[in-house]
Order: sequence, then C-alpha cells, then structure tokens
Amino acid sequence: MKFGTKAIHAGVKPDEATGAIMTPIYQTSTYVQDGIGNHKGYVYSRTQNPTRDALEKNIAALENGKYGACFASGIAAIDCVIKMLNPGDEVVSTNDLYGGTFRIFKTIFEKYGIKFHFVGMSTSDAVRAKINERTKLVWVETPTNPMMNIIDISAMAAIAKEAGAILCVDNTFATPYLQNPLDLGADIVMHSVTKYLGGHSDVVMGALVTSDEAIAKEMYRIQNSSGAVTAPMDSFLVLRGIKTLHLRMQRHCENGEKVARFLSEHPKVDRVYWPGFSEHPNHEIAKKQMRHFGGMISFSLKGDDLEDAMNLVKRVKVFALAESLGGVESLIGHPATMTHAAIPKEERQRTGVVDSLIRLSVGVEDIDDILEDLEQALG
Ligand SMILES: *Cc1c(COP(=O)(O)O)cnc(C)c1O
Repeated sequence: MKFGTKAIHAGVKPDEATGAIMTPIYQTSTYVQDGIGNHKGYVYSRTQNPTRDALEKNIAALENGKYGACFASGIAAIDCVIKMLNPGDEVVSTNDLYGGTFRIFKTIFEKYGIKFHFVGMSTSDAVRAKINERTKLVWVETPTNPMMNIIDISAMAAIAKEAGAILCVDNTFATPYLQNPLDLGADIVMHSVTKYLGGHSDVVMGALVTSDEAIAKEMYRIQNSSGAVTAPMDSFLVLRGIKTLHLRMQRHCENGEKVARFLSEHPKVDRVYWPGFSEHPNHEIAKKQMRHFGGMISFSLKGDDLEDAMNLVKRVKVFALAESLGGVESLIGHPATMTHAAIPKEERQRTGVVDSLIRLSVGVEDIDDILEDLEQALG
C-alpha cells in the first residue's frame, strides 16, 4: 500500500458489531471475561485498548515498522526508550536537541546512573569519539529545532551498529511522509504525535515504532509497567487527524517552500534556515533522506535587534504567537525568549539562536494570506 492509502486505512476496519466505519472510542477501563482467562484479547485498558490498538497499528504502518506503541506525550515515549537502558549505560546524542528531551536526559535519568554525551552530529568522527563499550543508545533528531540542521541517519545507523548500540530517531519534524528512519537503518523511531501526526493542535501524545521483536517486547513491557498510556478519545482524534496527513504535509511543504523563498529575497531578512536551499550546509543529505523539506523555517533579521523581532511577532495576524508546531494553523515563535530561554546567551548564539531569530511553523492556509501577513509584519 502507498502512503496516502495507509494513512486512511492501515490498522482500522469497520466495527464488527455495527459496521461503523470510524473506529469507536472504546471509553472503558476493563473488559468482561467469559470465564477465567477466557477473553477477547483485552483485559485492562492500561495494557490494551481497541482504539489505541488501531492507532498504534496505523502509525507503525506509516513508518514501515511492525510494532507501534502510543504514550501520553512525546516525552513519555522518550521516557520509555531510556528505561530500556541500565545504570552504567551511555547515550550519545546530538547537541542540537529539543529542550524537553535534553531536560529528561539530564534532570531525570542522569541520577539513575545513565550517562549522556551531546555532540554535533554533522561529522561521523565527532560521534565516534564519544562511543565506547558502554554506549547502548545513539539518539538522533533531524531536522533539528530551531536551526534546521540535518543529520545523516544512515551514517549514524552504521556507527550505532558498529558499537552494538541501538539507534533511535526523533522523527517529529519530518513525519513519516517525508522520512522513514527505520528504512535507513534506525532501530526505533519516535514521534511527538502532538505535532504533525495529530495535526490539529488538540492532543498531546507520543509514539514509538520498531520492527525488532526484542525491542518491541521491552517497549510494551515498559508501556504497561510505567503506565504513561494515551486515552481512547485522544487515540480517536489522532486516527482522524492522520487520515489527512499526506494532504496536510503536501500543503505544508508547498507553503513552506514559498515562504522560505519569499523570506530569502526580503531586504529586512538576514539568514533563512530551510533544508531545501542548495546553499543549506546539509542540503545533499536532506535530499538523500527526505522526500521534501517540510514547513518548518527559521530566519534572522538584518541588524539582529531583539526589539525588531518582538515587533514582528506582535504585528502578525494570520500567524499566532505560540509554542508547538505542526498544526493546520501557522504559528510563529521566538526561540531566544520562548523555547530556548533557559540556555545561556553565549551558548545560544554559538548555535545560531540569535536575538532576532524567528521560527515559523507554516500552516495550510492560503499562501497569499500567509505571504501578505509576513510582508505587512516585516514592513
Ligand atoms: C514537541 C517535541 C517533543 C516532545 O513531545 P511532547 O508531545 O510535547 O511531549 C519531542 N521532540 C520534538 C522534536 C518535539 O518537537
């Protein structure tokens, strides 16, 4: 099955009792058994729920994987992956990481004796330098937030394999529409479903997908034992959202490209970070592993003035000033004071998060309105 067909049909079937075409919201905690041990595959909704089941199968199919698991948030999915490790194990991760991922690594898991290394992953040598016999996990996020750096997933898979470690890729920004890490050698793919998969800014959820049976066993054991599961209603909303993932992504990509080109020609704009530009430092890798370049764009202003950036985010009307991304509506953010405020200024600026840096999640509105809004806000 091709992607758009899978988005609509994978994992779901008409309800056997009624013929309802939409998977019902099985809002139940428990299931009646005919006799002891004699049940229909469902015993308790922390362990299994039919609505969640359908969604887990659907997301697994989109990532070309065999096993899917959904969690209460993207962070809860990350929590599950790290709980597969033991004290003394080490993790090599990119240094250009989603803030919440960095926070759970450093402030939750480090005290349980797991060691995290953060390195620039644009060259294999820098990553290899941090690998040793205790390395059990390589963690990649690509494209990165907000600098839109691209990491070579196949190259990282080769390094992880050599080290006997597993590779997990946070595929939130790209979505399975643009990139399938399992096909490129990753062992686990992780999503903040909150973003593009849900797509309507109305659910917080996470997911993991793998094709490895041993990893899947651990994943389901931890999902059930730690209990950070997602609710039936939320599973239903995301099943519904995913049915248009391919249509939304197509428009996000088209609008994203037009906005990136508009900004790159604007006299008030200094730099535009979007992997579709041939002068983007990782453009060739992006072309190799992604089908298009998405709707996430960052840019800085000439003169790098904080006030100019503040005024711009105040003046927009179609774009809404908010955290998060990946919904149908266009969002604008200011990393230096919002998502990356906790990082010291020098460190921030070294990685490119300057005072005037603006991040856009370009939505699926009409492109003329989006461009007009940016034009008036910049002017
Ligand atoms: C939002 C996000 C997360 C965390 O997901 P939540 O659903 O907010 O818990 C992880 N990684 C990336 C890249 C994200 O954008």
